[in-house]
Amino acid sequence: MSDDAAAMNVDPAVYKTLLESTQAIPWKIDWDGLRFAYIGPQIERLLGWPQGSWVSIDDWVERMHPEDRERVVNFCVAQSKAGVDHEADYRALKADGSYVWIRDVVHVVRDAEGQVEALIGFMFDISERKKTEEALLRVQQELEALSFQDGLTGAANRRRLDAVLETEWASGRRGGQPLSLIMLDIDCFKQFNDCHGHLAGDDCLRQVAQILGASALRPRDLLARFGGEEFALVLPETDHDAALRVAQRCRALIAEAAIAHPASQVSRFVTVSMGVATALPSEEVTPAWLVETADRRLYRAKQAGRDRIIAE
Ligand code: GH3
Ligand code: MG
Ligand code: MG
Repeated sequence: MSDDAAAMNVDPAVYKTLLESTQAIPWKIDWDGLRFAYIGPQIERLLGWPQGSWVSIDDWVERMHPEDRERVVNFCVAQSKAGVDHEADYRALKADGSYVWIRDVVHVVRDAEGQVEALIGFMFDISERKKTEEALLRVQQELEALSFQDGLTGAANRRRLDAVLETEWASGRRGGQPLSLIMLDIDCFKQFNDCHGHLAGDDCLRQVAQILGASALRPRDLLARFGGEEFALVLPETDHDAALRVAQRCRALIAEAAIAHPASQVSRFVTVSMGVATALPSEEVTPAWLVETADRRLYRAKQAGRDRIIAE
């Protein structure tokens, strides 16, 4: 006896028992009239709607999250008309008003002439899987944010700085707009650590980053930790004079914070040295030129006695 023949000898009651004891919920919709011919009694346990309340396809459509409805109904109708088996994920409305994620796996049954006769399928409760997926997505987004962020200060990291410099350079080139960069280094920071301890040093870095972050007022301005006690401020669409004013404001705000630094050679408080550079992005120059120029000026500010800005 072939397998098919053997299967035909099985009592239909066995099939029914099997179907109604699975986690997956079986159903059948007659294509003609689009009415439920059958739905497993398990549906009531999952969604709370009684088995007998599933009459027409409208009951299925109406018990779907409004945000999923159009996408899922259009897709399923198109696939069914084309006679293609398919599956769809959506949120099903429960009798208590909450939603549960469902995966509906649909098989299209055709008659001898190939006309669509019915749809049969299984509904699976995929809410646990969705929860895991959403949690993974959140972790992924957090990691992504962290990988562009300096862990100590929360400012952008070098990687982000490089990426932003590239995109702002391209944008400046397209728009014919200048791009400015401020390189900033805390003065005598080694002595700060020696005097107050490394943890207080960390606090100081956080405080300086916070002041600088708050002073970069335009939405596209970017504060990055360049390394150690050095920061970079990217100022798109900012000319030389405006960048110099931002640098002066930063210096003033740090002075105003009056962070005690008794071991400093230049002041009783924490001070910074800065190099400012501005470029009109073009093919001839690169973002690296901007960084090197600002850095050279920062070095000159140190040489000249620290606690100052050099912008030319
Ligand atoms: P200058 O005025 O020439 O910039 O002198 P400086 O002492 O600031 O510069 P130097 O490069 O000699 O020393 C930098 C110090 O910054 C040494 C290092 O221990 C400290 N530093 C770098 N990163 C961190 C950090 O994450 N936390 C703390 N607390 N200190 C750091
Ligand atoms: Mg320093
Ligand atoms: Mg340094």
